[in-house]
Amino acid sequence: MQAAVFYGPLNLRIEERPTPRVGKGDVLVKVEACAICGTDIRIFHFGHRAITGPQILGHEIAGVIAEKGEGVEGYEVGDRVVVDPIVSCGQCFFCQRGLTNLCLVFKEKTEAFGYYYPGGFAEYVLVPEKAVRRGNLIKFPENLSFEEAAISEPMACALNGELLSRVGLGDRVLVIGAGPVGCMHIALARVLGATKVLVAEIQKARLEEAKRFGADRIINPTEENLKEAVLAETQGIGPDVVIVAASSRKAQEEAIELAAPRGRVNFFGGLPKDDRLVTVDGNTVHYKELFIHGTSGATASHIRTCLELMSTGRIDGRAYISKVIPLEELPKMLEEIQKGPYLKVVVKP
Ligand SMILES: [Zn+2]
Ligand SMILES: [Zn+2]
Repeated sequence: MQAAVFYGPLNLRIEERPTPRVGKGDVLVKVEACAICGTDIRIFHFGHRAITGPQILGHEIAGVIAEKGEGVEGYEVGDRVVVDPIVSCGQCFFCQRGLTNLCLVFKEKTEAFGYYYPGGFAEYVLVPEKAVRRGNLIKFPENLSFEEAAISEPMACALNGELLSRVGLGDRVLVIGAGPVGCMHIALARVLGATKVLVAEIQKARLEEAKRFGADRIINPTEENLKEAVLAETQGIGPDVVIVAASSRKAQEEAIELAAPRGRVNFFGGLPKDDRLVTVDGNTVHYKELFIHGTSGATASHIRTCLELMSTGRIDGRAYISKVIPLEELPKMLEEIQKGPYLKVVVKP
């Protein structure tokens, strides 16, 4: 099979690899779509601690079951499935609480497709017995395209964040950063009942995109004062929820200042290793009774919900897909993607 194999920073090769052999309990998925994630771009440029040898990247995977091993129940050849990338242990403290994205074993080894296991930038991906049993294969209906199904994973991460921030009816929400996941936050906040969604973004092309997802007001902080604009939109009070969907320490600090009393501030995006110390005015948090928290990954339950939100038309998944490319174009795309006006780019191997 054809696969995109990562050998080290800026070294991704399209190669012929043996199609994985299906053992007892395993499932082989023919990859129909695998979306490029911000993490793939970071790995392509800088590598990843969990990827030590050559590895097939890609963890936003949708496809069709091509073959199933002896003893696999509940799945048939031909089923349309999304692969939940996180392979959790099922036994640790957090797994037993249902928080598989915080699984201690997963966290230690990054036991996920596209990291520990070969990923979806290939014609086939083998889902080992352990993952099949853990429920990593999630079926989806025919009215949903593979491209949309593939983006259920990043959308699930956004949904996890929205739920952790308790976004609900009547909330005023500010999303800082209108990248693909920021734009997913806009749509999800609306579905969850937010009555106003504001978006701040410094890249002009991205601000234009944000309009399509139902933002009530888009703010370019390089052209207007962010705080003034946000206060003007919230009766001088500030947003109930601020989601920082940008890798920016400054944005995190601003979020704390902008949030309304009793507000929730979500450090949704990770920070660069060398710029991750945030200055917080403890008294701001104290007097405003703020809640500050983060979000990391998602569970199969979030993915399932996002598939349903798209298949029922609550959220238009197609609106996020800027481009579909063949596998051969992946190395070039990874070099250029940050310069382009792209939301999600999906590889069709
Ligand atoms: Zn991702
Ligand atoms: Zn676990």
